[in-house]
Amino acid sequence: MEDCLFCKIAAGEIPSDCLYQDESVYAFKDIAPQAPVHFLVIPREHIDSAAAVSQGNSAVVAHIFEVIAKLAKDQDLEGFRVVSNVGESAGQTVRHLHFHVLSGRDMTWPPG
Ligand code: AMP
Ligand code: ZN
Repeated sequence: MEDCLFCKIAAGEIPSDCLYQDESVYAFKDIAPQAPVHFLVIPREHIDSAAAVSQGNSAVVAHIFEVIAKLAKDQDLEGFRVVSNVGESAGQTVRHLHFHVLSGRDMTWPPG
């Protein structure tokens, strides 16, 4: 999608600190980390948010969770949180589906 920051990052048009990539998924460090470990996992395909996941595009979401598990294992993460904000009121600032993976500090619940 034109003018989408994360489409451009996945395409290599905007630099990022890549942790993993394959034909359908791209993972990179968050530019403003909220925990000692904070990376994002996105589909290369543009999907607006988790609210736009459907039967036709959901396979990549399962794959994203495989990648999250692999990266967590590779980094020896003992515990971690996976977050996907949907819509402005929930804190979504980039309208391209992404999963935050946060680790390395104690987390509070419920989130603010
Ligand atoms: P959200 O606010 O849930 O939509 O998450 C968007 C995330 O993207 C935020 O945590 C930002 O810090 C992060 N972000 C924005 N621009 C970049 C960038 N160029 N490279 C890496 N992360 C970014
Ligand atoms: Zn996009």
